[in-house]
Amino acid sequence: MLSNSNRRGWMSRSRWAAVSAALLTALGLIDAQSVPAGASQGQTQSPSPLAPSQAAQPLPSQGSPGQAPPVITAPKPLIIIDPAHGGSESGAVLNPTILEKDVTLSLARRLRVDLGTRGFVAELVRDDDINLSTDDRAAKANAARPALYVCLHATSEARGIGIYTAMPSDSGETNGPFIDWNTAQFSFLPTSRTAQQEIVAAIQKGGIPARSLTARLRPLSNVTSPAVAVELGPTKAEVSQLSADDFQQSISAALANGIAQFLSNSGTSSGAAQ
Ligand SMILES: [Zn+2]
Repeated sequence: MLSNSNRRGWMSRSRWAAVSAALLTALGLIDAQSVPAGASQGQTQSPSPLAPSQAAQPLPSQGSPGQAPPVITAPKPLIIIDPAHGGSESGAVLNPTILEKDVTLSLARRLRVDLGTRGFVAELVRDDDINLSTDDRAAKANAARPALYVCLHATSEARGIGIYTAMPSDSGETNGPFIDWNTAQFSFLPTSRTAQQEIVAAIQKGGIPARSLTARLRPLSNVTSPAVAVELGPTKAEVSQLSADDFQQSISAALANGIAQFLSNSGTSSGAAQ
C-alpha cells in the first residue's frame, strides 16, 4: 500500500511538472530547450554519458582559439648551499662571541630565501648545528646534481669577500671510467670560473670589495658540478659586521644576483630545462 500511494504521488508530481513547464514555455518565461524531454511524458531521465554539452567540449590538450595552451613548467634549477663547519667544529673564532659556523649558517639561510625569490630552489647541506665531514658534504652535493654548489666560510680579516674556485692539480689518478675523487671538480672548472666572475661582479656592483681567488680546498675539489666557495670577511675593522643583519642581507642579495646572472647566461635559469 505504501509503495502504491507513493507511485500515484510520483505520477501526479510528474504530470504537474509537465503542465507547469508547458505553461511557463507558453508564457515565454523559460526556454523550451531547457525543459527535460522526459518531463512532458512523466518519465525518469538518466543522464547520457555523452550529453551534448559535454560532447561539444574540446579536449584540453587540443586547445582552441579561445583557450590558453597548457602551461608546462620546467624544473627549477637547484643550488646547493654548504655552510662550512658546524657542531663541535666551530671554524674560526671570529671574536669572543661570533663563531664562523654560526655566521655561515645564518648567511646560508638568507641566501636560500633570496634564491627562492629569484625563481630557484636552494637546499642547505646542513640546516642545523651538526658535524659533517668534507666527504659527507661532497657526497650530498654530488647526489643532488645541482646547477651550482656554493660553500660558505668566514674570516675575521678585513679583506672583503673572496670567491674561490678549486686550484687545478695533477695529483689525480687515472681510474679508467671512474672519476678520481681528488680531481672530480676539474672538468667543471671553466663553468665554475664563469660563476665566480658573475658573483664577484654582482658583489662589486653593490659597492662591496670582492676578489676572484683559487685554493686547494675541500670539498670544492670533490664536487662534480660547477662549484665556488665564498669567504665572507668584514669590509671594516669591526668583526661584528659579519653577524650584522644589514651586512649579511646585502651580501646574500649580491650573491643571489650573481648566481641568477650565471644561471641565466648558462641557460639554466627558470623556464629552461636543465
Ligand atoms: Zn671556514
